[in-house]
Amino acid sequence: MNTVFKNHVLLHPNSLGNNLSNWLSSYGGSGLIKALQQPEAIIPLLKEAGLRGLGGSGFPTWKKWQAVAQQGSDTDKYLICNGNEDEPGTFKDAYLMSRSPNQVIEGALISAVANGTNRIVFYINPEQDKALASMREAVVQWQASELLQRTEAVTGKSIEFQVMASSGHYIGGEETAAIESVEGKFPFPRGKPPYPAQSGVNGCPTLVNNIETLANIPHLLRNGAHWFQKLGKGLSSGTKLYCLSGDVLYPGVYELPMGTPLSELIYIHGGGMLLEKKLKAVFTGGVSSTILTPKDLDVPLDFDSVRIRGSSLGTGAMIVVSEGTGIVRQVTEYVNFYAHSSCGQCPSCKTGTYYISQLLNRIDTGQAGNQDLDTLINLCAILPGSGRCHLLDGAIKIVDSSLFHFKDEYQHSLSHSFNSKAKTEL
Ligand code: SF4
Repeated sequence: MNTVFKNHVLLHPNSLGNNLSNWLSSYGGSGLIKALQQPEAIIPLLKEAGLRGLGGSGFPTWKKWQAVAQQGSDTDKYLICNGNEDEPGTFKDAYLMSRSPNQVIEGALISAVANGTNRIVFYINPEQDKALASMREAVVQWQASELLQRTEAVTGKSIEFQVMASSGHYIGGEETAAIESVEGKFPFPRGKPPYPAQSGVNGCPTLVNNIETLANIPHLLRNGAHWFQKLGKGLSSGTKLYCLSGDVLYPGVYELPMGTPLSELIYIHGGGMLLEKKLKAVFTGGVSSTILTPKDLDVPLDFDSVRIRGSSLGTGAMIVVSEGTGIVRQVTEYVNFYAHSSCGQCPSCKTGTYYISQLLNRIDTGQAGNQDLDTLINLCAILPGSGRCHLLDGAIKIVDSSLFHFKDEYQHSLSHSFNSKAKTEL
């Protein structure tokens, strides 16, 4: 796995390793100690720093924390540290948990101080054996630590940790689905309201934070809001773990300033295109968004700038596609994934993603007619917004976007289909 050790925070050599004593003696602990000294200053600090949810939403972290803090202190509160991470091309959280569990746990304990969460669940994709083992090992060390006792003394609550394997479904990463999963049920996303901050696991106030988001917290507390702001480029704060994959020379996890241009990620850190081919497209954010094309190479990779281009940063995953690769086939693969991942609660999603996947497979394998393309276009127009969670809309977005940018490839598939060949021969 390639990584960049420059302007790094989460992947700094001092942040790595599973040994708690090493973490506390070299780098860690001081963020939590500051938090214990001034609990009321934590949420305003997060607000000033501009930390946003790094699992895909980009939602301001302080708002989520405040919503849970406002729920009173006489009840259990849950923190789900979300490491479900099942999106294609996304592998940053597993990397962090495997190599650097202590910063994640310290971030979770700072949350406990700020908003009273006392039941901390590390919710991890079951395929990530190393991440599970590493988090378990680190939690055992924290349970015996004096810092945990001090945290319990300040919060007035006994803090319980749980490291659990998620169900492994993609949809289990959605925050309300994660809550269902922690309750031992199938991860069906819930309707809102009530929001998790009001009623989550077992009816208790619940905060769901991504692993990378939590890992930033100890560093932010230790160094301050101004330091964090300065790490980013332009108006963006902090760093971002970008997952670069596909047709680049050096795929890997790259920690770079938030707002690093796409061209820099691909051509400098990623070593450029594989076999020096031309760039054709980039699937962003866990393949649930509008496709970027070479004209977007200058886009700063931060939440707002990517949104202005009509796409989304999402998890920070960038799947690079070179000229010569068929977009229809690539999109078909992703929609197959979504159709398989639909939880089936919403008929429009279960049947819609299945139908779209069938149409795409027919088009891709030369078995479709013009009416299939028309049907595909119609489905993309009528289905968005009809599902309970983002899955259906994400699937539609990549199809819609591929039709916008690469409609000629769909038409080429149709004109070379068996049906049209048979007609020509007749
Ligand atoms: Fe399940 Fe799809 Fe409905 Fe989401 S949109 S809740 S995945 S059926």
